[in-house]
Amino acid sequence: MEDLKKAAETNIKEYGFPVTIDEKSGALQWVDMRELNVRYIISIENLQEFYEGLREEKLLATKCRKCNELYFPPQKDCPKCMISEMEWVELKKDGVLETLTVIFVRPPSFSNYEPYAVAIARLDDGVRVTAWLNGDPEKVKPGDRIKIEVSRRKEGYLMYEIVPVEG
Ligand SMILES: [Zn+2]
Repeated sequence: MEDLKKAAETNIKEYGFPVTIDEKSGALQWVDMRELNVRYIISIENLQEFYEGLREEKLLATKCRKCNELYFPPQKDCPKCMISEMEWVELKKDGVLETLTVIFVRPPSFSNYEPYAVAIARLDDGVRVTAWLNGDPEKVKPGDRIKIEVSRRKEGYLMYEIVPVEG
């Protein structure tokens, strides 16, 4: 990224515009000289239980007290019943892999990671979980058994991931 910026700065002087040639495609590209630094702040009000659960390696969902629908990631309202009478339930952390994709072109906030695999699993409780795959994406296929594990990410915080079950 720094090289790109330097090349663009050189071209501003020599050519008049912050343009460079894309290494892969050879296409002319405009390099915006304004850097965007974004820090997302997301409300987790009423979801404290979920994070407390992760600290104890539990995966928690919310369940509507009226229609019994399970929500994961947890929601504080049931969109079907339009009510907020939800209860917390602990999910079993077992299920099957449905699909995965390997992300080679990472968004800027993940640029310090190697390419990673994002998987979707269906837990035995019925909910779908989207998370990073901790395992070799070449060695798994849809239908394989998986489990959910809570681990620390590179940034140091706790998160859940999908782990293939051997055999
Ligand atoms: Zn409901």
